[in-house]
Amino acid sequence: MTLAAQAAPEKIAVSSKPSLVGLTRAGMGEALRAIGTPEREIRMRVSQLWHWIYFQGARDFSAMLNVSKVMRQKLDEHFSLARPEVVEEQVSTDGTRKWLIRMAPVDSFDKGAEVECVYIPEADRGTLCVSSQVGCTLNCTFCHTGTQRLVRNLTQQEIVAQLIAARERLGDFPGLTPPDNGLIPSGEGVRAVSNIVFMGMGEPLYNFENVRDAVEILSDGDGLSLSKRRITVSTSGVVPQIERLGAESGAALAISLHAVRDDLRDQLVPLNRKYPIKELLQACRDYPGASNARRITFEYVMLKGVNDSPAEARELVRLLKGIPAKINLIPFNPWPGAPYECSDWDRIEKFSDIVFNAGYASPVRTPRGRDILAACGQLKSETEKLRARARLAAELD
Ligand code: SF4
Repeated sequence: MTLAAQAAPEKIAVSSKPSLVGLTRAGMGEALRAIGTPEREIRMRVSQLWHWIYFQGARDFSAMLNVSKVMRQKLDEHFSLARPEVVEEQVSTDGTRKWLIRMAPVDSFDKGAEVECVYIPEADRGTLCVSSQVGCTLNCTFCHTGTQRLVRNLTQQEIVAQLIAARERLGDFPGLTPPDNGLIPSGEGVRAVSNIVFMGMGEPLYNFENVRDAVEILSDGDGLSLSKRRITVSTSGVVPQIERLGAESGAALAISLHAVRDDLRDQLVPLNRKYPIKELLQACRDYPGASNARRITFEYVMLKGVNDSPAEARELVRLLKGIPAKINLIPFNPWPGAPYECSDWDRIEKFSDIVFNAGYASPVRTPRGRDILAACGQLKSETEKLRARARLAAELD
């Protein structure tokens, strides 16, 4: 394991100036109005700020050379371009990076919410797995994150800022240099972060407005410019919000399915008691924009002796009939105290074959970043425990 961890700074700085990073165009317009910018200038100023913040990754108003000096000074008096702090970075032997990101404190008593964010480089793409909440309310029994209680929703600014912080860390803004380990996709027209998945901490559809607004910013062609096809929101099945997600954000949909019977899914994903499989799949059938070119992803974690039989694979195929779907089989990523084990490899292969022979792409997701607890469902809680252990060791030393 390669571990490059930085110690967390002790002092908490509370900026009195609100940051413009992560705002929507409407939000920037409001901010400019609040400092007396004439109405006729707002649109043009927002475009300028948008370009500098999201395309150039500017950290300082002084870099904004097409903005008048007087305006730059005024912006600097009232606002900052602060982004959340990366307080810890771990780099896996496979190139996966996990960042512990501390959001700006809301007051002097707040230490700032901390979330984890994972970057997974592959030959042709780089995927950033972002969090939408601090903690989670849903207690899926296979998920380590679910053992951490919900602290709060992230704002749309805090969601977008995860990408800004990641791109900075990866040297993926003009003028920055990527870290030299050869594992980050690079070259003409290749972007270090090409895909976003909302599969980090939290249930994104319990934070709908902020996730929707974040998708709008992430996909804006004048700034961060990610294709909506490459932004995937993964839900454990908040049925009433699924249609809205498609209609209002246009993001790709992923469903944490994991079981083909309600009695089992009630245990694995307790939200199923409220929205059972039949209702969930109907919402998928009705998902705006789903087509063979824009398939819905069904995530299925492989749990030994629990949900991995050939009969369950056949039932999965039957259930998904008529839905433009792809199926991601995820070998279970163990965590300390987990009540499950990962299915044996031949069992996973057999399951995958049945699904594949029925005409579905069924990639088995290679576990990434296991050595740094960055794999699916392993986020956050462990970092807290490791920190607590480190503190204890320091005290005993
Ligand atoms: S799988 Fe997602 S929704 Fe379920 S507990 Fe984990 S973070 Fe929450």
